Amino acid sequence: MSRFFSEKYANLVPYTPGEQPRDMQYVKLNTNESPFPPSPSVKAAVAAEVDHLQLYSDPECTALRGKLAEVYGVRPEQVLMVNGSDEVLNFAFMAFADEAHPLVFADITYGFYPVFADLNHIPYEEIPLKADFSIDVRDYCGIGKTIVIANPNAPTGMCLPLADIEQILRTNPDNVVIVDEAYVDFGADSAVSLVDKYDNLLVVQTFSKSRSMAGARLGFGIGNEKLIADLNTVKYSTNPYNVNRLTAVAGIAALNENAYYMNNCRTIAENRAWTVKALTRLGFEVLDSKANFVFAKSDRIDGQEMYEQLKVRGVLVRHFTKPRIAEYNRITIGTMEQMQILVDTIERILEG
Ligand code: PMP
Repeated sequence: MSRFFSEKYANLVPYTPGEQPRDMQYVKLNTNESPFPPSPSVKAAVAAEVDHLQLYSDPECTALRGKLAEVYGVRPEQVLMVNGSDEVLNFAFMAFADEAHPLVFADITYGFYPVFADLNHIPYEEIPLKADFSIDVRDYCGIGKTIVIANPNAPTGMCLPLADIEQILRTNPDNVVIVDEAYVDFGADSAVSLVDKYDNLLVVQTFSKSRSMAGARLGFGIGNEKLIADLNTVKYSTNPYNVNRLTAVAGIAALNENAYYMNNCRTIAENRAWTVKALTRLGFEVLDSKANFVFAKSDRIDGQEMYEQLKVRGVLVRHFTKPRIAEYNRITIGTMEQMQILVDTIERILEG
């Protein structure tokens, strides 16, 4: 830390992104990216847009927002486009949480929530998941704080039924409930269907996972128009051109080929089922995942050890050292070929 770094960030511990290694080619199952490339029309749209890079992007993302609203069955005024869903999470924390409206989220969930809370000096409470890593909905009912729930949760992959989300919304009418649906396309029910019914709901999604665009940085929020207007106030006070021209046209092209991406999601769900079966056969305990990853542990090998043994053999997964989950590894679901390599490699490791 330099002697110039503001005291207000003295205790800030930044988020640690998953490794993006450059030392060798790994079977990369550590950051929940899609194993499938974007559709060809995305490439063509980006190539054509390069000719216009001398111009700023449209701060309102008019065309992209319109297309997205059409695909999701909402009005454009209910949509905010952002530079990766991390950005809308940060904007939402800035807009809807403070000393008077502290945040609550699970003790085991997306690691960026406490970082954004600290960055914005928002007090927060972590509510422990149950022993089986499920959420006890009663913990959130009528809690009277700004709530953020990842559904499906990360890194467990487990999800809440929509009826539970609705109960949380209904019992916290004076607080915003942020539902982070980064992984919803792989098998969970989306709360987008509830945005007209609850003015305190903000749904957050991303193009990073199901739409093969992690490197383009595109996310979105869907909610009541007044919530979206507040988020726009924060956005226009931060970075009006948050979505660049190349990403915007890539997003439109991807939405025009939604069937390709939703079909990829079905393939991932099939590969997930195969992987769960194979890992279970090897003695792993695998949590019930509706995401594009599984969270697994074995009493035959320590979590950290398994991560390291896989890495030296060219397979990268994600290990967290946090208590309660250090026994586990989070494994992204890739192609069948990748999953076969994973399972074969684990088999060899266990044979010692
Ligand atoms: N929410 C959750 C639960 C995530 O796991 C991630 C990915 N790290 C994000 C949000 C952010 O994704 P992105 O910024 O790429 O949209």
